[in-house]
Amino acid sequence: MDPFELVRLMEGEAKKRHAPVFLHSKKLEPWQILIATVLSARTKDQQTAEAAERLFSKARSLEELAKMNLEEIERLIRPVGFYRVKARRIKEIAEILRGRNFPGTLEELMALPGVGRKTANIVLAYMGKPAIAVDTHVHRIANRLGIVNTKRPEQTEEELRRIFPEDLWNRLNSAFVGYGQTVCLPKKPKCEECPLKSFCKSYGTG
Ligand code: SF4
Repeated sequence: MDPFELVRLMEGEAKKRHAPVFLHSKKLEPWQILIATVLSARTKDQQTAEAAERLFSKARSLEELAKMNLEEIERLIRPVGFYRVKARRIKEIAEILRGRNFPGTLEELMALPGVGRKTANIVLAYMGKPAIAVDTHVHRIANRLGIVNTKRPEQTEEELRRIFPEDLWNRLNSAFVGYGQTVCLPKKPKCEECPLKSFCKSYGTG
């Protein structure tokens, strides 16, 4: 299938089904995307969104975030998973970045505490830079469809970079995540309703 057509179909279906990934109406700054992504690890989308909103209502810049004390950050982001560790990382990140130009490369972002490749790629893609953030949805669906055959997310990223043209890279994460939230669910994917079923290598096996 043509890569543009595949992404267009996945985005269209996910939006039609109100996938949470497409429901963020507020335009966020890159630093807010970074902090929200740190918050999101092992936490449900809804909890992450609510915690981020509480935090950003009190800290409207990295400067303000850096000035907050740890207990206040913990209180605002609870009940996200590992909130104590995340609060410490968020404060460290804010202290490192305040008053500096926001990082614009994978290496600079990954040098920050608690920031891995996936988080860095999410931020870069949000900033409009060519990047593919491979999370659990992207890894699972790309393998189910059979467009990659990989064990680890890093291998999936490498393969997807090879398969998809660069001007599609920063749309891939939200297209796959949205599709994973609404159609190709982790358990019991909705294969019968899936517009990709004639092309998918895993149709009916979920
Ligand atoms: S046919 Fe099933 S396994 Fe394949 S992409 Fe669609 S929902 Fe996922």
